[in-house]
Amino acid sequence: MFSSLRARLWLSYALVIVAALLLTVVVLALYLLRSPLAYRSTLLELEAARNVLIASQPDLSSLSGVKLESTLKTYDQALGVRLVLLGDKRQVLADSRIGAEAPIVAPRRFQILQPTIGLRDESGENWLYVAEALPEGRTLLLLTPRPRLPLLTILRNDLFLPFVYAGALALALSLFVAFGLARWIGNPLQALVSASRQMPETRPLALRGPREVQELTGAFNEMSARVNATQKAQREFVANVSHELKTPITSIQGFAQAMQDGTADTPEARQQAASVIQQESGRMYRMVLDLLDLARLDSGTLDLERVPVDVPALLNSVAEKFTPQARTAGVSIQVVTPPLPSVIGDGDRLAQVFSNLVDNALKYSPTGGSITLSASADASRIQVAVVDTGKGIPREAQPYIFERFYQADPSRPGGKKHGAGLGLAIVQEIVRAHGGTISVRSNPGEGSTFAVSLPITRSDDTTAISKRKK
Ligand code: ADP
Repeated sequence: MFSSLRARLWLSYALVIVAALLLTVVVLALYLLRSPLAYRSTLLELEAARNVLIASQPDLSSLSGVKLESTLKTYDQALGVRLVLLGDKRQVLADSRIGAEAPIVAPRRFQILQPTIGLRDESGENWLYVAEALPEGRTLLLLTPRPRLPLLTILRNDLFLPFVYAGALALALSLFVAFGLARWIGNPLQALVSASRQMPETRPLALRGPREVQELTGAFNEMSARVNATQKAQREFVANVSHELKTPITSIQGFAQAMQDGTADTPEARQQAASVIQQESGRMYRMVLDLLDLARLDSGTLDLERVPVDVPALLNSVAEKFTPQARTAGVSIQVVTPPLPSVIGDGDRLAQVFSNLVDNALKYSPTGGSITLSASADASRIQVAVVDTGKGIPREAQPYIFERFYQADPSRPGGKKHGAGLGLAIVQEIVRAHGGTISVRSNPGEGSTFAVSLPITRSDDTTAISKRKK
């Protein structure tokens, strides 16, 4: 019933208001009960009676016994106040109402500062009093019963209605405030609810309401922007994969058809058709392997070894592997590196990184070009540079070449050189998984430099390889 923010706010306001009003009533009642003001007129009457008594100069010290009591009784009847004479040790010597009222409990000290507290008699009744010191240490007390304050009557007649009005007004006001406050907090939250229901088709929400709600809205905006970006990337990815598979499948289909319907009727034509089919299916296979690698790197399920890797040795073996290919292309390959500390990582995957970079360098270097693999180290990292003297990368393409399926020159004809634009994406993921970075510098027409930086880590360091993408 009270599950909504509005109802709960109002309920809590109502509770606070009722509690505050009750507390005020109680405090007010206590104050009234103890207030000297309430007994002031009675005390004044007592003092007036004392003044009259003193003015008549009664000779109380010479009297005693029955005579004394009858004198006190006479004054009592005349003044309408009880009179009690105390001896020098505060013992009761005479009482004008002896027998008629319960005896007074004589005080040890007189309350001067709080005369309203009064004295008690033996039956527990309270008496207000004034005292008059007499010769020989005697004291005359003038007493009158402490009037009972009609507290309930005061509360009922004078205070009840104002309190009810104040309470009703405060409750109405609290309803108003609770309503406004609930709108202030609730509306942006409601907007968040409907925006999350419409995900991913949401626009960024305006930051409204209290700071905490604004932070929540900000976080939601960031999250929905990320979800949108991921979905866009996924859509593009699927479109790219389909596009990249379409070309080889079309040519496989075409050549298979030609073999089947006899268009390729000579042994040479059949041989050529079979070789195109083999080439294209090989390309598809490599692309699928690349995609699998990327998927595993993305999900963190690619098992990377963590062993010390000797980078100079690794670079030498990569260069050696490409030497025959480079010789055929008329390109020279050299490795320039001093002995270096090991990095912790997966040797095969790091070899894949540098093979990919050298493969690209070879693909885009003209005859007579050169490729240099160099490495150096500082206190915490090893830097490897793969420098070629090839055609370079257009400046506007450089920020994108590590993106999946990006090809700086998509108009390239097919054939051996044609990749799917996945090589550098994989290279970047492997380098990142080793806690490293990769960057490119290239002057079109002069060549390109790919710089890989890998952290040097101890063999027992568990952070050397990060399994998951940040
Ligand atoms: P691909 O498999 O298509 O080569 P990559 O991801 O390896 O894809 O490279 C992306 C793009 O970057 C390539 O299409 C190419 O245009 C450009 N590129 C990469 N390396 C070089 C290089 N050494 N020289 C010139 N262009 C390069």
